[in-house]
Order: sequence, then C-alpha cells, then structure tokens
Amino acid sequence: MSQRIRTRIRVEGIVQGVGFRPFVYSLASRLGLAGYVGNDVDGVFAEAEGPPEAVAAFLTALRADAPPMASIDRIEAAEIPPTGATAFAIVPSEAGGERRALISADTATCADCLAELADPADRRFGYPFINCTNCGPRFTIIRGVPYDRPLTTMAPFAMCERCAAEYHDPANRRFHAQPTCCPDCGPSLRLLDRDWQPAGTQAGDRGAIARAADLLLGGQVLAVKGLGGYHLAVDATSETAAATLRARKHREDKPFAVMVPDLAQARLLCEVDEAAANSLTSRRRPIVLLPRRPQSAVAPSVAPGNRQLGLMLPYTPLHHLLLAAVGRPLVLTSGNVSDEPIAYLDDEARHRLGGIAEAFLTHDRAIETRADDSVVRVVRGRESVVRRSRGYAPEPLRLKSPFPRPVLACGAELKSTFCLAKGHRAVLSQHIGDLENLETLASFTAGIEHLGRLFDIVPEVIAHDLHPDYLSTRYALDLADRDPERLELVGVQHHHAHIASCLADNDAAGPVIGVAFDGTGYGLDGTIWGGEFLIADLAGFRRAGHLAPVPLPGGAAAIRQPWRMAASYLDAALGPDAAPPATLTRHERMWPGIVTIGRRGINSPLTSSAGRMFDAVAAILGVRDEVNYEGQAAIELEQRAEPGETGGYRAGITGGDVLVASGADLIRAVAADLAAGVGAGVIAARFHNGVAALIEDCCTLLRDQTGLGTVALSGGVFQNLLLTRATVDRLTVAGFTVLTHSRVPCNDGGISLGQAVVAAARTSSR
Ligand SMILES: [Zn+2]
Ligand SMILES: [Zn+2]
Repeated sequence: MSQRIRTRIRVEGIVQGVGFRPFVYSLASRLGLAGYVGNDVDGVFAEAEGPPEAVAAFLTALRADAPPMASIDRIEAAEIPPTGATAFAIVPSEAGGERRALISADTATCADCLAELADPADRRFGYPFINCTNCGPRFTIIRGVPYDRPLTTMAPFAMCERCAAEYHDPANRRFHAQPTCCPDCGPSLRLLDRDWQPAGTQAGDRGAIARAADLLLGGQVLAVKGLGGYHLAVDATSETAAATLRARKHREDKPFAVMVPDLAQARLLCEVDEAAANSLTSRRRPIVLLPRRPQSAVAPSVAPGNRQLGLMLPYTPLHHLLLAAVGRPLVLTSGNVSDEPIAYLDDEARHRLGGIAEAFLTHDRAIETRADDSVVRVVRGRESVVRRSRGYAPEPLRLKSPFPRPVLACGAELKSTFCLAKGHRAVLSQHIGDLENLETLASFTAGIEHLGRLFDIVPEVIAHDLHPDYLSTRYALDLADRDPERLELVGVQHHHAHIASCLADNDAAGPVIGVAFDGTGYGLDGTIWGGEFLIADLAGFRRAGHLAPVPLPGGAAAIRQPWRMAASYLDAALGPDAAPPATLTRHERMWPGIVTIGRRGINSPLTSSAGRMFDAVAAILGVRDEVNYEGQAAIELEQRAEPGETGGYRAGITGGDVLVASGADLIRAVAADLAAGVGAGVIAARFHNGVAALIEDCCTLLRDQTGLGTVALSGGVFQNLLLTRATVDRLTVAGFTVLTHSRVPCNDGGISLGQAVVAAARTSSR
C-alpha cells in the first residue's frame, strides 16, 4: 500500500449554513480521501486521510474553492496517525454546536438559482422565494441560535417531501439550506390594495407579479416587501410617478435609489468602471453611488440636482422577476415617510405606507430584523462603505489584536450603529438610523439584545459618546447603572472614536495624525468640535490642532439654516463691514440679529466644525441657504464645484502646542472672488482645494512636531469625494502614508467600532 497521511483540520469563520460541509464532502470524495467533516461551536472540523499530494491539494482547495458565502478567518491543520479508514462522511453537529457559529449576511440570488428560476422545466420556475446554501435570506430571517429552520421566520413552512430530500442530501446544493422551499411548501406572493384586500384577480405568484408590473407601468406607487423591509417602487423613467412618490413621502430633495435589471442597463444610466461593476454584482448587492450619464432615461425627480445616482441590481428572486416584467429601471426607496425607520412588519407597512402606495406586493414570510440597503461608492478603485447594512451586517470584522473583554459600544446619534466585540471579532450592527425618536431607540435596544444572543456576546465593557444628551449615551449609562459591579463604562470622545474607527478599518494601531472633519461632536472643553487634528492611538489622543471656532448662531437652527453660518463666518472674516452678499439678501432683515446673538454668545455655542464651514460657503455662493437633510449643503457644494479648477485659497495657521487654522481666511477669499464676479463653480472648487491645502499644512507642521508620517482621515466631511481625492493627493505627494475608510463608514455609522477599539485599548492597559 502506498504511503498515506491523515490531517486534522479546523476551519474558523463564516463556515456554517453556507454549504461548507457538502463542499468538503464532495472535495474529499473527488480526491479519493477518507475521513469526516462536522460542525462544532467554533466552526468546522475535519479529518482527511490519503496520499500526501491529495491531502495537500485538499488543504489548498479548502481556502481557494470555498463556497461563495463562506468567509474563512483561519485554517489550522496538524498531522495525526492514519487510521486506515476508507470512506468520507458528514458527521452530526456536536452538542451545543453552532452556538458561536457566525451568522452570515443576506446574500443575492446565485447563478444556479437564477438558472432554475428561468427554466420552465424546473419545479421552481418563476418561484419568487428560490434559494440555496449559496444564496438567500439569512440575518433578516434569523430569530435565534442555533441557526436552524425552527429558529427562523421559515418555521411555519413545513418542507414538502422533495424539498426535504434535497435538504438531507449531502450532494445537493440545498443540503442544510434552512430557507429551502418550493411553490408547494414555501411562502407565496400576494398583491393587495390599500385596504389590504386582493388587488384584482391573480393567478398565483406569476399573476401577482404581472399585475404589479402593470400598475408600475401605469405610473402607480407600489410597496414591495423585500429582505429587510418594504420598499416603495415607481417607474424611474416616469417624471409624474417619481414626483408623486417624492411628494407623498415628504422627501423634498434626498435622492432615490434605482434598481436596474442588469449591468448593461446600469451602464446606460451611469458610468460604471470595473471596480463599480464588481460592487454592483457582488453577492452583497449594495446601492452603488455612480456618476450619472447626462442623457439617461431617469426622470429628473429621482435625484434632483445630483450628478450622481445610486444604482443597485436585483438581489432577491422577487426583484429579478419584477424587473424582468417591468423591463425598465425602478425607483426602489426605503418604505417610510421622510426620516422614520424603514417599515418591515406587515401591519406597520399597511398603516404607514397606505397613504403613499396604491398597492402592496407582499408575502407571508416574516422579516425578523429590519435592514436597509447598504450604500457604497468606489474611491480610487476601492469600495468604500457609506451605509453598512443589508448584505454586510452582521458579518464580523476580524481585527489583529483581540478584545480582552467583551465590549458593547453604543455609537453616536445620527446614522446610528452599535458594535458588539469579543475575541478577534467586532460585530457592527446594521444601520439603525438617526437615534432621535422612540421607534429608532426601540430598534436599537432590541438589536443589541438580538445580536448579543446570536453571537453569544455578554458585554463587560460599555463604551459611549461623551455627549450627555444622546439617547445612546443615556442607554449606556442606564445599562451600567443596573449592574455597576460587572459593567465598566468607558466614555470616548467623538472625534477620537472617528480616528480609532479609521485605524480599526485599516487594522492599524497608530499613533497617527488623525484628521476628523465632521458636522458635530461633543468636545472635551464643552464646545462643539468638528474640524480636528488629533495625535492619536487607540488608547488616547491629544488635540493638536483645529479650525478656529466661530459661533453657531441659534444652535441647532444654524444646522438647518446654513445662511446663519454664512453670517457667522462673514462676521469672523470681515468684521463690522460684513453685509449679506447679493446671494443672501432675502435674509437681510434677520442678518444683524443673527450676527449679534453670535457675537454675544446668546444660544450660540462656539464650534470648530468643518461641516458648518462648508455650509457657510454653500450659503454664500447661493447654492443652498436652508437644508432638508443632514449634509445637503455640502453635498450640493461639491456637485457645483468646477472640475479641473486647480486654484485654491490659503488659510493662515497660528499657535504652537495647538495649531489653529483660520477658516475665516478661506471665507474672506470666497467673498472676494464672489464680489469680483468669479463663478460659483470656480469658487467652490477653489474652496475645496483650500481645505485640502489647510489639511496638508497642518499635517506637515504636526509631522515636524511629532515625527509621525501617517495620517488617518475620518468624519462625515470625507464623504465628499472631491475633498478626499484632493487631500489624499496632496498628502501623498508630501510623503505621508494616508489611511482612509473602506469597510466601515467614515461618517457616524463607523463611530461604534471606534468606541469599541478605544475601550479595548483602555481597559486592557489597566
Ligand atoms: Zn442559490
Ligand atoms: Zn417544497
């Protein structure tokens, strides 16, 4: 008998519920190996016995050919004595198994399922709930662990004989695929009117889709139940339909996302490079923000005044069928009114969306967890997540250095997320929304309990923002209050959390020069920070520089009304001579009062916020003097900037130990150019270049001070691509290593991860 070896193998990562065991089984069978494979609490274990070259090929293929939904953290292999076994088997899960198994994210319909969906001879032909181990719903249908059908929202659907046979056959693509179903045993579609009564006569799922397509083509608004909630859909090429939806949703300017049937159609609407195509077609299927083509067929009301368009491809079989039936792009936007969380329960959808949609395309598989669509963009060929939700969450981020104790980080307020971390893994929640009302708070607290159970993380450290009024901070304090003996509280300054989040995103530890530019964050000195240069590592930071503070006249009112920031900055730049520019004469009457309350500090806290400086410029240039959503003025200012303009303004920098950069210098230059008749587009571009130069100048001074050569860029202001590109270019030319975000958002959606790694660094050093 030729030489044989036996190897014991352990695989960790997302390897359960993703077809890993059948994959191992068929791989071993193909290579003629003996042994077994099974699941336990930590992942997959296996032993493989046979000729050394076959065992080696087996080990290589484990990683290289793993099923698409698997995500392997680690493979360990150790040689053990051969047993002479001749067969390979899948062994039952060990007791307590799958408890710590990692729950995978919802995944777009795979190519095999799509082929069956389109095959008239297949028993799942045209079935809107087709799925397999390589695709389908996961996180949004899971009620508890172990991840098994009874603990999912598929529990009420007993598998028919044929589905059960597939489910139990290790050679089948549906082996242990918990949501396995077919038209005989699974969920079914219904098309309902506003009163939740059947809309017209429909013959089964196909009839419902055909009728739904007719309604859409007739210009009606349709609510469609998706994976993580209800969408509102209209024909994206119909201006009447898009404008109607916008009016009913009270969504004055925020762009709608558009779903297109395939990549070819995406290319008709937008410029899609290779990296963007990869994101669009990835199994995560995010909304990808893309430069739109000027002559595209999309109605103006879909994304008014925006050079970009958010596109996505179908990710459920229902989407594929609906898009094929309609044959044109569809607006597919969150099912809610303005800023409420997306509706995901049927009753909730019926009541909240009944005034918006004419009909509901719904079904009887419940959604357990609300999850919005994720949003990404491509920056320098790399995907950068703007909103991390469906398709990404709750897939853990693996970090090089472990969390010494389990952590719950509660995040901030806007674009809220939380983070549960243990061992080497940080589980970042899906996007929860703005944590400003009871409904979002309920979603936040329920989410913490749910994810804690799924991942078996019982926090011992609670991290929170320093802002005393954030609901997330109050939640953290209340929680710690209930069990002060066991729970340790760690307050983390907002901009330190931003920089730490960027470090964690890059699996770096610092120290770095951190540039945290955003709208609002609670500062250590009681003022509102937001244009910060920090010398930071994970455990701590020093505020090494910042924008010169200016008054925020009227507090929160100045955030909604950028013209107030224009008044404040023009006063700082020009003093008593400042009058409203021609673009803002309609605020002439209020202007002196606003300047006065700012100067006297009446309800006008000081702020070094970079976001407010962008607001001021947008208002001065007449781009936007009042906003309907956060960041709107800055977004429109970026859109307005003249591409190719290379001129830039310069800001003075003073101070020694703490640098102070004069935003007012930039504003003075803006006002001078405007008065000289320079166009708004050119001024906007020069301002962006000026901010990038200001960042470079400060970083260069700080490098001289500290010897640090790495810069981390974080904060919502860096969602601005024009600014980010200009800044990275300058810093790179100046010899810096630049860290930017990709796996987690640079905006406040990434704060909780930053808080978690800061808390870990602080509590481990104690
Ligand atoms: Zn599939
Ligand atoms: Zn069936």
